[in-house]
Amino acid sequence: MRIATFIRNAERFVGQVSSDGTQVTPFKLDAGAARRGALPLIEALARGESLPALAEQAIALDAVRLEAPLPAQRRNLWCVGRNYHAHAKELAASVFKNNSADPQAWPIVFTKVPECVIGPVDDVHLPDPAISAQIDYEAELAVVIGTGGKNIARADAMRHVFGYTVVNDVTARDVQMRHQQWDMGKSFDTFCPMGPWIVTADELDGTRTRVRCWVNGELRQDGPTENMIFDIPTLIETISRGITLYPGDVIATGTPAGVGMGLTPPRYIQQGDVIRIEIDGIGAIENRFV
Ligand code: MG
Repeated sequence: MRIATFIRNAERFVGQVSSDGTQVTPFKLDAGAARRGALPLIEALARGESLPALAEQAIALDAVRLEAPLPAQRRNLWCVGRNYHAHAKELAASVFKNNSADPQAWPIVFTKVPECVIGPVDDVHLPDPAISAQIDYEAELAVVIGTGGKNIARADAMRHVFGYTVVNDVTARDVQMRHQQWDMGKSFDTFCPMGPWIVTADELDGTRTRVRCWVNGELRQDGPTENMIFDIPTLIETISRGITLYPGDVIATGTPAGVGMGLTPPRYIQQGDVIRIEIDGIGAIENRFV
């Protein structure tokens, strides 16, 4: 099932996307619940309840504006740094030069604030160049947690996955490297495009799909998720060590090689650039940087 959050007539709805991808049928949710996007549905299923009924009338997808499937998250997004070998290599002399710990031992984990999440076709706002002149893209598969839990064993981890979506972990590289923590350089307003919807785990195996990213039509990133250094079960096991994961928590699983900073010379995002990220089995997001 594909679950989308969308705006129609200035009101937010959550709906099921048709199998041909041309229509969306809203769930019967009160406006207060719908304001939280897909989260109330994920929480209801985690409690053992069933999904709310669907409305009678389907709506053409091109008649609505898609939003992030989780536009109002309860807390920060979990994110993983350095999770593909080729990407670890391309930034070894810059972003990762102070991360001396064995890259195979433990993942780098940081967070993005929930307020930076925007929709799959919304504009990303470049900051004043005095704040950052090194804005970069990171195409990533994001895992959405279904049933929560703490100290989740690797062997049980996939049972806690509700589904998958696409994120662009937009990053201010100079700010990322200036501070000991990455959260600031990763959390600028609008720095987390997400969407176009959540594909539930019964329809997609996130451990075997393909992440691609184009800048103005030029393919820059193309990585299979089989190449992750820390696979999805390991990430869930690691992040839930001593910390309870909740339904609707998002884990951005890291980016393949091909980010702008890894090019020679580096190519950062310019005003007007359009970044498209597509993940096989999910769909695409496309955002203009202004
Ligand atoms: Mg990232």
